[in-house]
Amino acid sequence: MKTAFIDKVVNAIETHEIKAYYQPQYDANSGRLVSAEALVRWEKPNGEIISPDKFIPRLEKTDDINLLDWFMAEEACRTIHELGSKAVPIAVNFSRWHVKERDFYRKLETLLNTYDVKPEYFEVEITESALAIEDFSVIEQWAYMIADIGVNIAIDDFGEGFTSLQFVKDMPVSFLKIDKAFLKDNCQDDRGRGTLETVFYFANRLNLRTIAEGVETLEQLKFLQCMDCDRVQGYLFSKPVRKEDFIVMTMMDAAPTVEDDDYIKKQGSFTSQNLFLKAIKEEYDIIIFGNLYKNSYYVMYMSDNIFFKAPTAGVIDDITDAAIALSSKEQARKYDKFLSRRALIEAYIKGERRVEVELDEKVNGMIQKLHTVIHLMEHPYKDDVLMVGVSRLIENKEA
Ligand code: C2E
Ligand code: MG
Ligand code: MG
Repeated sequence: MKTAFIDKVVNAIETHEIKAYYQPQYDANSGRLVSAEALVRWEKPNGEIISPDKFIPRLEKTDDINLLDWFMAEEACRTIHELGSKAVPIAVNFSRWHVKERDFYRKLETLLNTYDVKPEYFEVEITESALAIEDFSVIEQWAYMIADIGVNIAIDDFGEGFTSLQFVKDMPVSFLKIDKAFLKDNCQDDRGRGTLETVFYFANRLNLRTIAEGVETLEQLKFLQCMDCDRVQGYLFSKPVRKEDFIVMTMMDAAPTVEDDDYIKKQGSFTSQNLFLKAIKEEYDIIIFGNLYKNSYYVMYMSDNIFFKAPTAGVIDDITDAAIALSSKEQARKYDKFLSRRALIEAYIKGERRVEVELDEKVNGMIQKLHTVIHLMEHPYKDDVLMVGVSRLIENKEA
């Protein structure tokens, strides 16, 4: 009688033919080894090494795969434990079947406790395509349970599938692993670069950390550094290696290095823009953009110091009305004279490019005095007038 494939796998685990290899991940800027991914390998007695593509898809047809994944998870915990104070977080691949596994998080918690592994040293990798086929509420609950025990979740092969952005936004995910297909053409193709820029912009805006996998060339690395990518993984640095080699690599790299990674020197446009924005936010409580002809605005930033809250985007005239409602008669006149859309358009037509004004607003029994500067400018390619406004709170007193 033919043995079921899973029996062969169990046997191979028992005879140590199935092994966890580790591929190091590096901080994209400092180049230090900061984490790793566990990848399964089947070492046949004749020395042949079978890659996962040859047997994982077969196991993934049913929940047989769970057994292998838990074996890998245990191996990763053992390795983290053995590394002791030199440990780095290790990510383990989990197939979609685990989403349905009852008490997944409890099993994981028990495993971490058994090997005395802190939850932040273990990362759960699940592919984007795996998540797309399950019911959203089931996945969400599963993910929150994992996040609640302090384990980070990474979405693997991000961009390969068709996950809606909404999906990622609502999930307690820490990392996006950008699919290696994005790096093809060596990041030289303009459209490819544009797509990648958008993915990184999206990740940065949602405060998700990013890992690029399949990094093979220096050009790719340089480009990823410009994108403020957090971690890189690929043949340029190291192939997946056996545990013994990984332990040596980690021990060597974990030696303290001088803080010579100059953030400024290596900055790309993202880094500089983010730094600049940080500095501007220190100065101002509100940053707002508007299209005066289209009567639309977008609030890029509003600090918690400001009581008056406007929706992130909307109609300029609506915020004018709301602000005037909070002002005394005299202040309302001033607002209308300087900051209403009509007043700003008139100022622009007269040739003014900068409007500066101080106004009081009364909210929750407090009077807040705001100093506002508005820059008026022509739309780069349409017949519209745009504004960029910044406001600073200069006084906050009881009414
Ligand atoms: P993955 O999780 O996306 O893993 C990354 C794959 O990219 C690995 O292939 C890795 O060896 C390969 N890779 C790394 N750097 C480079 C590079 O610079 N260039 C290129 N071309 N490839 C690179 P690998 O080890 O063959 O694994 C293939 C897939 O098998 C994995 O993709 C993962 O989906 C699955 N897999 C591996 N181990 C496990 C496991 O323990 N459990 C489960 N469920 N799936 C696993
Ligand atoms: Mg993976
Ligand atoms: Mg991947």
